[in-house]
Amino acid sequence: MSLHRTDSIHLGHGRVDKGMERVEIAKGVFQLRSGSNIGLIVQGDRALLVDAGLDKSAAREALRAAEELNVSIAAVFVTHAHADHYGGVAYLQRRLGIPAYAPGLEAAIAAHPLIEPIYLFSGAAPIQELRHKFTLAEPIQVRAVIASGPCQIEGFCVEAVALPGHAPDQMGLAIGETIFCADAIFPDETLTKHKVPFCVDMDQTLGTLDQLPEMPYARFAPGHGEALEAGEAIRRACTSNRQRLTRIRTCVFDHLCEPQDTASLLQSVAGDFALQITSATSYFLVRTTVLAAISSLEKAGTVQPLLSDNRLLWQRA
Ligand SMILES: [Zn+2]
Repeated sequence: MSLHRTDSIHLGHGRVDKGMERVEIAKGVFQLRSGSNIGLIVQGDRALLVDAGLDKSAAREALRAAEELNVSIAAVFVTHAHADHYGGVAYLQRRLGIPAYAPGLEAAIAAHPLIEPIYLFSGAAPIQELRHKFTLAEPIQVRAVIASGPCQIEGFCVEAVALPGHAPDQMGLAIGETIFCADAIFPDETLTKHKVPFCVDMDQTLGTLDQLPEMPYARFAPGHGEALEAGEAIRRACTSNRQRLTRIRTCVFDHLCEPQDTASLLQSVAGDFALQITSATSYFLVRTTVLAAISSLEKAGTVQPLLSDNRLLWQRA
């Protein structure tokens, strides 16, 4: 059970179907809850989506939620180009012809989704396992790139808020006193289950976690888990995420009493968290976070690469 459950905000909710729950977190602002949440902002008879879930079936449920509310979907904002958040967009574009908006680098990836498995596989042609829907979405048409700050998306006055680190150009979307904050924070149940949260830039992620509770919003709706109120609830969530990442970075440094390569470092860190990795996809996700810890330490001048007998080792500086 999530520690956030008691802090969640329930202004009203309806069940779209057994897979997706519709929760009104502020007037006209809904969180469609599933494996990956979708935001739905209603103004008059139109709606703006924030992300679109993993696939066609998630997108269909968002469509059904809009129908139940008697609104038509006008556009979708993609917070970051991870397939579980924008995989449903292509279906909505085929079905409704709606425009998509996304932050710069995320827009580039969502328009060319092979980039996601390519970077996970160190730039080489990705293995077949990385070409499934969890890491390879269908391409989307991006109408315009969104920069951080106030903006108009198809008539909706919103604010894009930079939340980098989990993905390079991740942005949240704020409307009134609510911010959809994407994967800037994970609920405790995700941290408990996956142990090593995905992050590409650890320093940026930690900076985002420092800033998030200070932002002037009343509620924070993450991409996974329930919405959190300002104050203690969001502060506690940011603290658990920050503690997890800094612990991972400390583990990496502690294991470098002797030089190690990335693979053995990853094995040691997984051991510290009693994590049993069971798929190549999970391995590459965890490896990215371990590398993010290494680059954070390298930037701080405490770790450096060492080439030894054609092995790249990491050693303390
Ligand atoms: Zn993500």
